[in-house]
Amino acid sequence: MDIIINSLYSNKDIFLRELISNASDALDKIRFLALTDKEVLGEGDTAKLEIQIKLDKEKKIISICDRGIGMTKEDLIKNLGTIAKSGTSAFVEKMQTGGDLNLIGQFGVGFYSVYLVADYVEVISKHNDDKQHVWESKADGSFAISEDTWNEPLGRGTEIKLHLRDEAKEYLEEDKLKDLVKKYSEFINFPIYLWATKE
Ligand code: ADP
Ligand code: MG
Repeated sequence: MDIIINSLYSNKDIFLRELISNASDALDKIRFLALTDKEVLGEGDTAKLEIQIKLDKEKKIISICDRGIGMTKEDLIKNLGTIAKSGTSAFVEKMQTGGDLNLIGQFGVGFYSVYLVADYVEVISKHNDDKQHVWESKADGSFAISEDTWNEPLGRGTEIKLHLRDEAKEYLEEDKLKDLVKKYSEFINFPIYLWATKE
């Protein structure tokens, strides 16, 4: 984890690209399932296939929310929980031999780029086949999962809350975020909305 953080540090912006890309993948998956089973989308507003990004300047949180496929408890453990994912060592090896670190997403470890800007990350997720869970982790490689009995129900999908490091407060500036969203949304086929709370 330290190697990932240190070597990507000059390119922190990419965390947003990786999260938007994951949200878009999740939306693609539910849209694909809905081709053969309309029921999977649920009713009305909860079916909106979009990505929402919210800035909470007071709490210093950026959250990225999608109404995609979501993750079951098992998915959360399998997909986010293990730094020992197969791509990790390949990525680290590549970096040590001077590869282009910007390609982190291609190693299947793009999610870890959240630790470039956050020292505490919460992932709230609801899959049609399971209850809503919260996965939380500090940048130390350990994590905890619990059934979510306190956050608002998502209906379906995933919300990723990044508690920003002191050195990453610049991402709370709306203009900066807006530029980044524009840059990374070019090939995304879903609408992306950006909200900011007043200071
Ligand atoms: P990759 O996207 O290349 O598979 P990542 O490290 O970016 O690797 O993400 C790991 C996995 O976590 C994804 O493959 C996906 O299964 C899961 N995941 C991440 N973000 C989301 C999300 N917003 N909704 C559903 N699943 C997600
Ligand atoms: Mg990804």
